[in-house]
Amino acid sequence: MYTDLLGTDRARDVLVERLPSVVDHGLSFCRAIYHTSPMGDTVEVAGGMDAGMPDITVRPVLSTLAKLPWEPGVASCLGEACEPGSEELCAEGPREVLRRALSRLTELGLEPIAGPELEYYVCDPDPSSPTGWRRYGDAPGNVYTAGRKGDPDGHLLRTLRYLRDLGLGVTMGNHEFGGGQFEINLDHSGALDAADRAFRFKAAVQEIARTEGRLATFMAKPFNDEGGSGFHVHLSCLDQEGRNVFDGPGPDGLSETAHQAIAGVLEHAPALAALFNPTINSYKRFGPDTLAPWLIDWGLDNRSAMVRIPPERGGAARLEVRLGDASANPYLGIAALLAAVYLGVRDKLTVPPPLEGYGYDSAKAAVLPGDLPTALDALAADDALIGVLGEKFVSSFLTYKRDEVARFQRHVTDWEFREYAYHL
Ligand code: GLU
Ligand code: MG
Ligand code: MG
Repeated sequence: MYTDLLGTDRARDVLVERLPSVVDHGLSFCRAIYHTSPMGDTVEVAGGMDAGMPDITVRPVLSTLAKLPWEPGVASCLGEACEPGSEELCAEGPREVLRRALSRLTELGLEPIAGPELEYYVCDPDPSSPTGWRRYGDAPGNVYTAGRKGDPDGHLLRTLRYLRDLGLGVTMGNHEFGGGQFEINLDHSGALDAADRAFRFKAAVQEIARTEGRLATFMAKPFNDEGGSGFHVHLSCLDQEGRNVFDGPGPDGLSETAHQAIAGVLEHAPALAALFNPTINSYKRFGPDTLAPWLIDWGLDNRSAMVRIPPERGGAARLEVRLGDASANPYLGIAALLAAVYLGVRDKLTVPPPLEGYGYDSAKAAVLPGDLPTALDALAADDALIGVLGEKFVSSFLTYKRDEVARFQRHVTDWEFREYAYHL
């Protein structure tokens, strides 16, 4: 199983007696994995169709081989994409982009530790709904709704146990603000391992829902009348002695390195949005009074800020970056975050004062990009970030995403029909 640019799991099924050959030689995938949309459109990314759609070789990462608790006799394993027949990592592969960003922090003697939190909606089939789906359960949205009131047939409980058995390091789950919306938190660990688990988590949650005829969606903002789904990342950094370098003596209990890291995230936020909020739909989650961010700001234990500093200090001093939505490719979101932290520390950036109080007053800070094209332009203009993430990857990503924008702009939506068809 390997990730495409979107973060979708793409896989080939291998009979168990054929596994030794895959372990020795890897498995060929067509590079179309980076060039086709979920609707099957082939996007003209350089090195794809123009080059005859060559292969990539995906080599198994055997430490991730795990039996699927819901699919007896089947195991899954992550892969690492390489150029065909070689050990050279594929430059545009999301997992490899993350390793690239990680290696820059390693050069500074820092080991980033990430804790992913993902929200998602669960839906039941409903032929009378225009989308074919309605939100699971009958409870109106209410965060931390206990037990069967918010989880009528125990779907969340089954999901948590399956995820535990898969070895994903799940800490807890809860009902979120939206009806049928849940959040599950994962243990913190080294950034690559955390991204691997977040990627496997999304695939697993979707699969588990499918076994029950349900749809679990990580779309950023699937419903007009309910809040969106976030992908919050808790981040700290260790030095070579294993000490958390974000803890510090300042009045806010943070170190200078932590301030520089926050400053890096703020400085590069418009470009980060392209990777943490990568869909047309992502920008409908942002907004005042949503608990999703709207401004480029930070605050001490303030959930209305884009970067929240949770109250714990010492070994648990960390940033909670609330920018991302659940539709982000976990590898790319975390890679972009590490790149911004690296640049903040390398360039010794200065952080503005933290937000006090209400976080949605645009007199206090700059506003995040309002749509995907604006975020893509910000990424294209952020040479420092591109330098860390890699030019070939960013170019492929921008080409793919600009094609997505163009396809959307040509498409007539339901809203247009309702707004215009009867009265104009
Ligand atoms: N659903 C909110 C978001 O999209 C977050 C709510 C929370 O704080 O858990 O980021
Ligand atoms: Mg939440
Ligand atoms: Mg959170």
